[in-house]
Amino acid sequence: MTFTARFAPSPTGPLHLGHAYSALLAHDMARAAGGRFLLRIDDLDQSRARDHWEQQIYDDLTWLGIGWDGTVLRESDCLKTYRKALIKMNNMGLTYACTCTRRDIAAAVSAPQEGVPEFGPDGRIYPGTCRDKAHPTSEAAAIRLNIACAAARALPAQFTETGSAYGGSHALRAEDLTNTIGDVVLARRDMAAAYHLAVVLDDAASGVTHVIRGEDLFDATRIHVLLQRLLDLPTPVYHHHALIRDDAGKRLAKRDDARAIAKYRSDGASPQDIRAMVGLASV
Ligand code: GLU
Repeated sequence: MTFTARFAPSPTGPLHLGHAYSALLAHDMARAAGGRFLLRIDDLDQSRARDHWEQQIYDDLTWLGIGWDGTVLRESDCLKTYRKALIKMNNMGLTYACTCTRRDIAAAVSAPQEGVPEFGPDGRIYPGTCRDKAHPTSEAAAIRLNIACAAARALPAQFTETGSAYGGSHALRAEDLTNTIGDVVLARRDMAAAYHLAVVLDDAASGVTHVIRGEDLFDATRIHVLLQRLLDLPTPVYHHHALIRDDAGKRLAKRDDARAIAKYRSDGASPQDIRAMVGLASV
């Protein structure tokens, strides 16, 4: 299978040094392997996606010397695929309609137990309030995955990580999924698919063999591998890289305009300067 990597930014703000690192690393690895490098625009959140940010992504990547293969996939063009997957998991008895607001959830988890985390890779761990309530989908604020049922159906499952911090083979454990992730959101009333569902479907649809992305997403990988098993999709190899941090050690955010690639460009930096700043050898 051809080594296929991708970069999947959301067009909700300027690309910064952290994005440059991710994109350059995925691009370098794909080219070194004689493989493909794809660009995807993760524009599911239409309330925040903007055309000018998308254009800026193309400009910045081109300036950095990154070329992508084939056409750009945009998530907003894939809504049918997401819907089909949701129906499939619903027919398998794995999803349910949830009517809770964020405030309801916070109130329900009033006394977190010692040793049990309050937050996981999908935010606050859902206490299961709506799990057995059989709300009609029309009333749902969100569609959730019953993670215990999903684990019972999908395990054993594992994935291979090649990033240096977590390198090796990782097996998913049912208890761990229930306690540290909980019933994840798969779709919201105003969003055809949540990130976790969309990312596995998009990666599979474009034949991605290697997912190269920031370490902050390592914990979410278990959700992705679980969904791949449920939907009969292949599991790629994962490579989570270290995050680029600011001088205070905080990871860069979209609003951190000071480190936007566009800013470095207008200040006269070269693409090789950016490579050096993120610790990549010049080409
Ligand atoms: N759009 C996501 C992000 O920018 C992609 C994450 C991923 O690579 O899976 O964080």
